[in-house]
Amino acid sequence: MEQKSAAEVVATARDAFNKGFTKNVTHRMKYLKSFKKFLDENEDSIVQAMHEDLRKHREEVRFEISIAVNHLKYLMANLKEWVEPKKPPKRWTDLLDGVYIYKDPLGVVLVMGAWNMPVLTLIPVTGAIAAGNCVVIKPSHNCPAFANMLANVLPTYLDSMCYPVFLTGDIHQTTILLEQRFDYIYYTGSSSVGKIVHLAANKYLTPTTLEMGGKNPVYIDPSADLELTATRVMWGKCLNSGQACIAPDYVLCTKSVEKEFVMHARNALRKFYGDDPRCCPIVNNQHFKRLQSLMNGLNIVIGGRTNSLENYIEPTVATEVSPDDPIMQEEIFGPILPIVTVTCFKDAVKFINQREKPLAVYIFTKDSSSMTP
Ligand code: NAD
Repeated sequence: MEQKSAAEVVATARDAFNKGFTKNVTHRMKYLKSFKKFLDENEDSIVQAMHEDLRKHREEVRFEISIAVNHLKYLMANLKEWVEPKKPPKRWTDLLDGVYIYKDPLGVVLVMGAWNMPVLTLIPVTGAIAAGNCVVIKPSHNCPAFANMLANVLPTYLDSMCYPVFLTGDIHQTTILLEQRFDYIYYTGSSSVGKIVHLAANKYLTPTTLEMGGKNPVYIDPSADLELTATRVMWGKCLNSGQACIAPDYVLCTKSVEKEFVMHARNALRKFYGDDPRCCPIVNNQHFKRLQSLMNGLNIVIGGRTNSLENYIEPTVATEVSPDDPIMQEEIFGPILPIVTVTCFKDAVKFINQREKPLAVYIFTKDSSSMTP
């Protein structure tokens, strides 16, 4: 079936919203239940699609689905209470009035997902449905199998006039979609595309939520249990091959901690994978090449092998990394862990504060009382 144009999809959703279909709380509850049914009944298809796109393991997919299902349960348990108008305290200017706060839906919401956690980035869709909006669902063009499965299967559970899935084979179609007028845009993805989305939203002063990534530092204190620390850091770096928004990006530690950490990191990888580490491949050749070029010139002490036919990069650790190296200029989003040495905790805090705000910071220490900047 041919897909409608972006303008047609948005116009249909706006028409449905104006007719008041999605404002009705019984309708909202019905489609929240249907969304949960979609997740419950289609685990195999979701797993298969995410394996095709990302080689994700079933257990990781189930983990994503379970978070979305729990969120849906939370919405359904609280919706009736949330939609009740609230009576705020009166001020002298409105003493004689009946004053209520009504929580009206905004209208037509666009939800743009990212490829690395396709189910998780659908969670804002459920919030927008609960709030009574129509929602244009735009999965990432970088996970085509998942996006196609969604476009084929979701309409059997949700009303596709109110909650259409819009497929974008390339960036051009997303650009056209972003030219349409929305009442809210919820975007998950990189900050470079976040700027494009923000700029497009400015045209109509559309409010946005931009869920982006960042360069998440790990500070390892000399007091930390380094075996445990290395196991946890390498687990975080290898999960989905480091293609997770809260993956540890780089390590800050003293020179002596670095030496011991590297030894334990090597052991941790052996424990996880044996002598031939195999985590999942990089999502596509463009990202593979980007990561390969970030590895150029690094002092690699663990891993470093790549395979362009499979877009595969071995879990890799590099020492003697300079803050000016290309790998320290952008979110890595891959299984490469650079270590930058610092002299102490305060030095690490200064290093972090001089850069863009990360999404997460990890501290490993046995002495939390000394961790105040
Ligand atoms: P991506 O390539 O899937 O892009 C994100 C969305 O933007 C997709 O819907 C995509 O189709 C669209 N898009 C891409 N390029 C575009 C362009 N030029 N113009 C218009 N639309 C475009 O994902 P990505 O950006 O590679 O995603 C990874 C990023 O997402 C990482 O930075 C990661 O940290 C972040 N992320 C954040 C969270 C969070 O909850 N904060 C969750 C997952 C991912």
